[in-house]
Amino acid sequence: MSNVPAIFGSLVFNKTVMKERLPKDIYKSLMKTREEGKPLDLEVANVVANAMKEWAIEKGATHFTHWFQPMTGITAEKHDSFISPTDNGKVIMEFSGKELIKGEPDASSFPSGGLRATFEARGYTAWDPTSDAFVKDGTLCIPTAFCSYGGEALDKKTPLLRSMEAINKQALRVLRLFGNTTARRVITTVGPEQEYFLIDKAQYEKRKDLIYTGRTLFGAKPPKGQELEDHYFGVIKPRVAAYMKDLNEELWKLGIFAKTEHNEVAPAQHELAPIFTSANIATDHNQLTMEIMKKVAAKHGLACLLHEKPFAGVNGSGKHNNWSISTDTGINLLEPGDSPRENAQFLLFLAAVIKAVDEHQDLIRASVATAGNDHRLGANEAPPAIVSIFVGDELEKILESIENGSDYHHKGKTFMKIGVDVLPAIPRDTTDRNRTSPFAFTGNKFEFRMLGSSLSIACPNQILNIIVAESLCEFADELEKADDFTDALNKLIRRTIKEHKRIIFNGNNYSEEWVAEAERRGLLNLKSTPEALSYYISEKNVALFEKFGVLSRAEMHARYEIQLENYCKQLHIEALTMIDMIKKDIIPAVCSYMKDISKEALNKKQLNAEICCELEETLLKKLSALSAELYRKMEALEKVVNEQPSFEDILEKAMYYRNSVFASMEDTRATADEIESLVGEKYWPYPTYGKLLFSVV
Ligand code: ADP
Ligand code: MG
Repeated sequence: MSNVPAIFGSLVFNKTVMKERLPKDIYKSLMKTREEGKPLDLEVANVVANAMKEWAIEKGATHFTHWFQPMTGITAEKHDSFISPTDNGKVIMEFSGKELIKGEPDASSFPSGGLRATFEARGYTAWDPTSDAFVKDGTLCIPTAFCSYGGEALDKKTPLLRSMEAINKQALRVLRLFGNTTARRVITTVGPEQEYFLIDKAQYEKRKDLIYTGRTLFGAKPPKGQELEDHYFGVIKPRVAAYMKDLNEELWKLGIFAKTEHNEVAPAQHELAPIFTSANIATDHNQLTMEIMKKVAAKHGLACLLHEKPFAGVNGSGKHNNWSISTDTGINLLEPGDSPRENAQFLLFLAAVIKAVDEHQDLIRASVATAGNDHRLGANEAPPAIVSIFVGDELEKILESIENGSDYHHKGKTFMKIGVDVLPAIPRDTTDRNRTSPFAFTGNKFEFRMLGSSLSIACPNQILNIIVAESLCEFADELEKADDFTDALNKLIRRTIKEHKRIIFNGNNYSEEWVAEAERRGLLNLKSTPEALSYYISEKNVALFEKFGVLSRAEMHARYEIQLENYCKQLHIEALTMIDMIKKDIIPAVCSYMKDISKEALNKKQLNAEICCELEETLLKKLSALSAELYRKMEALEKVVNEQPSFEDILEKAMYYRNSVFASMEDTRATADEIESLVGEKYWPYPTYGKLLFSVV
């Protein structure tokens, strides 16, 4: 194993490198820019750009790119080389401050939801100096935000940064009320746990469905799935271990804190967790992690699947977004402290999250709504589509006693006057945590578990930041006016718990009873992407985003359109792939199998009319009927895809894809899977689930 501290961050133009390579005054003003979010002076940028270029060339770079995160959900880069011609027919390597600060990619092909008229194809990218530049595959990558010339956000990063600003401002107001005068910034911290599948590349390449859609559109259940639960935390197989080792090294070079790795519940499923960092860096790093995961897999003859549900009937992949709020002085605001004052502050921040999640269940749900994730949410191993919060028994009892004004009894002691008594230790036991909760308090942070594995974490974190900013703003408004702070605080926390406790649920989120109970409590249960997204642009939500300057009405509508459009496109591609696979591969395979069986029967009869052909006849009857049924269903699918009614708007179209196209696909698949279970393996055109899931050793 290489020397980890030596390689860690070796491809990143980080603070250490900057300090080494930049003149003192330039370094200082760059740091000031980073901390205060001020625009960078062009003279400073020129010096920084030159130092960056020199450093990048030493790392083997010949090109630079503004690396950004458009609404497609993946990252984009357009490479420009550093070369600049000289009089004598040679070139020198150049990179200016202007090129560092601002880029103008031809952005007409990125989705803008109508924000950027097509005649104004250009958008511009602007350096986000809070995220370090890095070298990847011979290119200096500069993390940037992507906007239209009118200033509208066209990417996922811009609103995330704006939301971080919003929560910073409101949290600082609250901290000042508690007498904290030292914190200068409050940031949200995020540690996303990333799940993925690893399968053999050669087998992956035999499946059009995986190649075109990221998931299998067909596949009969293998004899063994995850019933034995023997894969979870099991011994990591040699080929996978070699992959993980390589992956870690690549991530470490990029300064990504890859920390934990283990097998997940499903066969061939694994997880990687980094150490948490600020929300925007965590977002950049998670995007890079997903990209590098795929790249390293290819080197090992493997394919890394990031789709939420690559295999039906087998656990899907999610992303657990661990989220907390912290000061620049290193205080985690969701960590109960040791003193009454710290405890009171903790309870207020906790109440802010509880209120935020209850009031904005719709936004939380919409922030994770994608076609891929629809297969997971509500399925038996994933959190349901209903949003609720797990706080654990101890904390729930404390909240109850606060609400009722009753004493809290803990090991013979009585509590609980906020700001006067000390909270009992809240157990942070990892074993008895409720794994079924979509939003769980885990001692000093919340773990938001509804995210799909391929999702950019930018949007969910942007939503968390803004909704909690709103709670904190309301709290600060109220408390700043109070004469008796402690008394006002007590009342506020008690009232908040009373009003929002319906969102707290510590039981089994996968149970039928919870669905009924949640309905009684008036909680939302938005089962599909179109349903969830329809809430996104409500007046209440637009007002919220506009209040904190995170997104304008136009920007929100654009995002809504893009996401629904994307949903329709994905289902469309899946439907076409399915039709293609049936016509080109599955039908020919069944026919060839049936032909051989009938030949076999005829041969037998020719030899001796007495020989029993019951097997052949039974199989042929079954397969003939099933393949005719498959063909009929496929034609019906073709019809719903090709003969669509006209739609009033994009939401109606998305609903149609959900209710007609998707339903028809499910129906078609059921028949194909039944056929697969009857056809000889050497006839079947695709590797089976058994092969895909169990052959990497
Ligand atoms: P697990 O959930 O598997 O028991 P941990 O609780 O240790 O593991 O951490 C899970 C993830 O939560 C890790 O990525 C970790 O860095 C992250 N995490 C821990 N503390 C915080 C925090 N204060 N803010 C955000 N993420 C955090
Ligand atoms: Mg976890």
